[in-house]
Amino acid sequence: MRKLLSGMFIGLSVNAVVGLPALAQTKPEVTLTRLADCGTQQAPTEVNQRFSDTYAYGALRIQFVFSCYLIKHGDRYMMWDTGHSMRAPLVAPKISVVDQLAQLGVKPEQIQFVGISHYHQDHTGQVDSFPQATLLIGKGDWDAIAQPKPAPGVNAAPFAHWVSGGGKVEPLPSDKDVFGDGSVIVLSTPGHTPGHRSLLVKLNEMGNVLISGDLIHFRENYETGGVPWFNVSRADTMASIDRLKKLAANFKATVIIQHDARDVSKLPVFPAAAK
Ligand SMILES: [Zn+2]
Repeated sequence: MRKLLSGMFIGLSVNAVVGLPALAQTKPEVTLTRLADCGTQQAPTEVNQRFSDTYAYGALRIQFVFSCYLIKHGDRYMMWDTGHSMRAPLVAPKISVVDQLAQLGVKPEQIQFVGISHYHQDHTGQVDSFPQATLLIGKGDWDAIAQPKPAPGVNAAPFAHWVSGGGKVEPLPSDKDVFGDGSVIVLSTPGHTPGHRSLLVKLNEMGNVLISGDLIHFRENYETGGVPWFNVSRADTMASIDRLKKLAANFKATVIIQHDARDVSKLPVFPAAAK
């Protein structure tokens, strides 16, 4: 035991003196860009009927927006969600994700990873613009997409390239440290859908940012534990909200609720990036 302990201390001290400073010097810069248009917002929504299974919100109306994100890690890129399809009735973006990336000087083939919060159409509509990318998606959602006959609400069509074996996919059983240095982590937050995921991005200047996916849809929903009746699991949703709140506290993170206009405005206006 004494030998083991002394070995541990040597390991620790070597790491402290040599390993960590070297790692700090070489860690690539991470930036987070909120794209300008991932879907056209509609009139404010009265949320009591659909977005609270306890009908907690009276006449509250919320301005929902659609959002998707580019993460730059050194010279590597990841998309988080891909917005509505350009062919979606009423809510289609006015400019495609690919054309917005072009304004940033980024070509679609440079996107190494596409992280998908969940299988709904407002988050997956343009995923087929990135056939070379590795999909990072919760296993529960991937299994639903890859069914021979996907259930209603599962937007499987744009994933055909990956379902047929033409593209790389990592169906995630738990969390995923995307770049291997802890700076960008896909988080398991099931409940809205079986394999729902959220995202943690650690930025040098802005600090840690937690991007919700649709674990919650608006601020009041987060603060009071509101659960839409169409979520696949109320219990999983409540547990995942609890997880997100504890992560936010422990990482002192800014929480960005993807559909809440008040939240997405915490990030700089396109084409500026949070650093
Ligand atoms: Zn959504």
